[in-house]
Amino acid sequence: MRRLSLWLVRLGYLSLLFGCLAIPASAQDQGPMVAAANPHAAEAGMAVLRAGGGAVDAAIAVQAVLGLVEPQSSGIGGGAFLLHYSAKDKAVHAYDGREMAPAAAAPDLFLGPDGKPLKFYGAVVGGRSVGAPGVLRMLQMAHADHGQRPWKTLFGGAIDLAEKGFEVSPRLNFLLTRDKHLRTQVSARRYFYLPDGAPLPVGHVLVNRAYGETLRTIAEEGADALYTGAIARDIVETVQSHAGNPGRLTMDDLAGYRAVKRDALCRPYRGHRVCTMPPPTSGGIATLQILGILEHFPLHTMAPGSVEAVHVISEASRLAFADRGQYVADTDFVDVPVTAMLSRGYLGSRAKQIDPARSMGKARAGTPLQKKGDGLPWAPNSDGALPSTSHFTIVDGQGNIVSMTTSVENAFGSRLMVRGFLLNNQLTDFSFRPEKDGRPVANRVEPGKRPRSSMSPTIILDQQDNPVAAVGSPGGSRIIGYVTKTIIGVLDWNMSMQQAIDQPHFVNRNGTTDLEQGTAAARLEPALTALGHNVRVRTLNSGLHGIRFTATGLDGGADPRREGVVLTD
Ligand code: GLU
Repeated sequence: MRRLSLWLVRLGYLSLLFGCLAIPASAQDQGPMVAAANPHAAEAGMAVLRAGGGAVDAAIAVQAVLGLVEPQSSGIGGGAFLLHYSAKDKAVHAYDGREMAPAAAAPDLFLGPDGKPLKFYGAVVGGRSVGAPGVLRMLQMAHADHGQRPWKTLFGGAIDLAEKGFEVSPRLNFLLTRDKHLRTQVSARRYFYLPDGAPLPVGHVLVNRAYGETLRTIAEEGADALYTGAIARDIVETVQSHAGNPGRLTMDDLAGYRAVKRDALCRPYRGHRVCTMPPPTSGGIATLQILGILEHFPLHTMAPGSVEAVHVISEASRLAFADRGQYVADTDFVDVPVTAMLSRGYLGSRAKQIDPARSMGKARAGTPLQKKGDGLPWAPNSDGALPSTSHFTIVDGQGNIVSMTTSVENAFGSRLMVRGFLLNNQLTDFSFRPEKDGRPVANRVEPGKRPRSSMSPTIILDQQDNPVAAVGSPGGSRIIGYVTKTIIGVLDWNMSMQQAIDQPHFVNRNGTTDLEQGTAAARLEPALTALGHNVRVRTLNSGLHGIRFTATGLDGGADPRREGVVLTD
């Protein structure tokens, strides 16, 4: 049945290619279901669900395997955001496991001796970029609230695979081949490259005993095993003693790391409630702003992928990115006018700036608080598109949902490896410049602060708070475009999850309009250029994994642009 579901997913993709939109084309089942970036990870999640585990239990198993088989993307040395829907209370809660800057981190962390910002990879590779990891403490917090199986039983799949070995996938091999920095770090080179320096080939069986051992300790002792004691000492030693680029992370920073349970950010859209993650990610606010602006346009009358639809969605995205650049950073440190930014009146006034016949060009930030922008924080946008990060969506047998986006930031993070796992470089998601035009930057480095993210795990409910769909993606700040496009596919165009994911990408981050190479979207270049867009055709590497709830059962989708699958029983 599992294999059959996989085939159904692929068939869904084919049916989209041949335009058979009317045929229900995705894996449809009563669940449980896991949609994740790697078959081993999805399988580990399903094993927990089959044994009576809940969605959070399965998420722990999935994450433990992803850290092994997709180490370029996420792991226990990184951070994450988890959105949980509880079927019993019909409530969505948001868990924040974003990395925190060390107590000794100052706004000049990423400035060189000349006072100028460091080069990006000069900052990334080494200890300087490593924040206190948040994944494990966040999972432990979610498990304390919603776990149904004992913590120590959830790591068996990952431990087995680490000790027996797994086959290097084409994507892992591709990223190892392309990466210039991983091989410069001794522990990572020994693990990921052959003695002659060649990257591990596709199909090579890679064993990671150190990771297996680390997971055994975490299974036995809980998340604290990573934050205190011998593993923590190794993390700190590796970060602080890096030869060219040491960091400031201490044992106190690790011991003091706290996950945070936050109120999910929910806003109506076309008779639904779209719930997503609040700051420190900018992703939730931006997604909801784009949708709130688009409510003023009859998208259902426009064909998916048509010039008029791509134009209006791109323009709405420009407006949201302008506000994102001006206002959004960690709300524990900076006042972000979240309510005003999402108010119907404000978004209606933003929608009026969109001309269906002409691009506005560069959008300017609005004034949601109805006063001049002066004195408000300034958070320039610096992040790009990355081949890392992972999103998975899980529905358990009781209808509970986990929608979790997880990341070590850049591919292979800081490139530092400790006890079989990689350490993040999430601190480079802070603005390198602490001030601009004499004003402090909202997303500047500060002790204990969480860098601004774009990750946007999402859960959509109907008016009775029953679940409709859940989705998310990697892709740096393009995540916002990928997730929004998929929500629109499901809600405005009534697509299956697979069809919504497969739609050709187009993304505007208040600059160029990027169209996905090799797809029908690329053919829109002349028409969009004529409307005043500055168009770029390029690969757009999302990793969308989502599940839709339908009258006939669950409908899952996995992004054909990565190596993901949908599994169900
Ligand atoms: N570090 C990025 C963020 O938190 C994610 C990077 C990616 O998606 O590849 O927004």
